[in-house]
Amino acid sequence: MLNDALSTRSQVVIVGGGIAGAWLAYRLAQREVRTVLIADDDRAQPLSRAAAGLIMQDAIHCTDRTAPSVFADSSTTQDPRYQARMIERARAEFDALARIVPYGPVGDFVCPLGPTPGIRLGAGDDVVRQVLARFEEHGGTRLRGRATDFVVTGGTCLGVRYEHEGQPGKVLAADVVLASGGFTGLFEDGLGSGTGYLLGTYARRGGCLANLELFNRFALGDLDHRRPLYPFVLEGAHLLRSGEPATELAGDSNDLDVFTRYWIDNLDVPHTVELANGATARLGPVKGFSMGGIASASEPSNIHATGEAEYGMSLDSVAGKPFLSFLARGAELAETLARRATGVSTEDFDAGPPAPPPDNALPAAIQRRIATLQDNRFSVERAHTFLQWCARERVQHFADTESVDLLILAEAYTRAVLARRESRGFFYRPDFPTIDPELDNQITHCRYDTDEDTVHVSLSPVGAAKV
Ligand SMILES: Cc1cc2nc3c(=O)[nH]c(=O)nc-3n(C[C@H](O)[C@H](O)[C@H](O)COP(=O)(O)OP(=O)(O)OC[C@H]3O[C@@H](n4cnc5c(N)ncnc54)[C@H](O)[C@@H]3O)c2cc1C
Repeated sequence: MLNDALSTRSQVVIVGGGIAGAWLAYRLAQREVRTVLIADDDRAQPLSRAAAGLIMQDAIHCTDRTAPSVFADSSTTQDPRYQARMIERARAEFDALARIVPYGPVGDFVCPLGPTPGIRLGAGDDVVRQVLARFEEHGGTRLRGRATDFVVTGGTCLGVRYEHEGQPGKVLAADVVLASGGFTGLFEDGLGSGTGYLLGTYARRGGCLANLELFNRFALGDLDHRRPLYPFVLEGAHLLRSGEPATELAGDSNDLDVFTRYWIDNLDVPHTVELANGATARLGPVKGFSMGGIASASEPSNIHATGEAEYGMSLDSVAGKPFLSFLARGAELAETLARRATGVSTEDFDAGPPAPPPDNALPAAIQRRIATLQDNRFSVERAHTFLQWCARERVQHFADTESVDLLILAEAYTRAVLARRESRGFFYRPDFPTIDPELDNQITHCRYDTDEDTVHVSLSPVGAAKV
């Protein structure tokens, strides 16, 4: 891990060291593409490291015939290229991963083999570490730091500004990739600490965000510790609704069934879980996976995305699919970037002054407000009050770009919620509680308007040109 030189040139710079960034970096380094990976794991813990690293066997072996059911998506907003990508690459990428990290079968899945048999939360940590080690063996460079800005001139990104221990740094690159994860950390009932503010930075620099309002939720979550409650954690546990057994939560229907059949009508009723070890916590659905992010083929054209930071993987069930999807996407992107002949621009830029420390209280303030837009408390008026608050806060935080970018993301999310006047999949609006068939196959696109300091949202068919 290097940080000696705070100014670096590289063919590709990747922001994010979870499974998505690590796999792309490894595949690029194998192709001898000069690559720097920069990650801020001290502050934004990669979700990949907390994960079990499970992969669904049917997804590895998917074919033209099976892919539509394996990757089913009742939200109807999946990227049309997603299934073809999985059919073409899932098997080969899994085999390549399994040569680095041994995997073994467990039921319908395969999981990383560890000291003890079976599923282990945290096994994703070993997977990511070993892939990153291979990346470095192939000559790749890792930097510790927090990306703070993209320098864009004339529609091209010249590179990334970042800071490390208060010192500003820069990486000049021909291609920039965001693998900075999702933004579930922006929600009170979201998993992980990643607020996704870099998506706001990307929007501030002219990029387009898609599908932000859609999330996958785990049906059973511990709201106090913001973690999913998997079946093996719930062995011997009691699920209670207002102190009485929550019998309707028994059974093994999928997360979406439980959300639409049960939680939508019970979100404001207190639920608790009593675990076999005596611990208790508030029980409810938790948001575990951002379906939206950077829109496909957006501008600036040399900023790309992979992993949860990218729109494109809308799925009703994520069990055992995100890791594999990001392997396939990483391979595809590595191939594309290796073919690009563009060199690093000779135009330089300064690393900028030290970034002011971000306002650590802001994410919690946003979380509290957004929570009232995600259940029966939602109203259009409340959403507009929040948008006005975001604009006021941006003025107050004008020198602190991380806070500004977080507020842009929060506004983009809220405007996407306002634009989708229906309930669909895990997305719920009490004023429009059913699906609107006219919105089938429609995704939201958000663009930040610098002059007006506001975000514009449009709905357009999946695969169509953006606003
Ligand atoms: C508890 C749990 C269990 C799961 N289990 C599985 C499973 O078994 N199988 C499966 O397929 N999926 C699983 N998932 C889903 C999967 O873990 C995630 O979808 C996936 O890890 C996301 O990977 P990523 O690389 O996109 O993002 P992350 O792993 O979140 O990585 C993001 C990276 O970006 C960095 N970063 C962010 N902002 C900046 C910045 N400004 N500057 C520098 N660096 C930055 C972070 O530090 C981090 O390194 C699970 C999820 C959860 C929550």
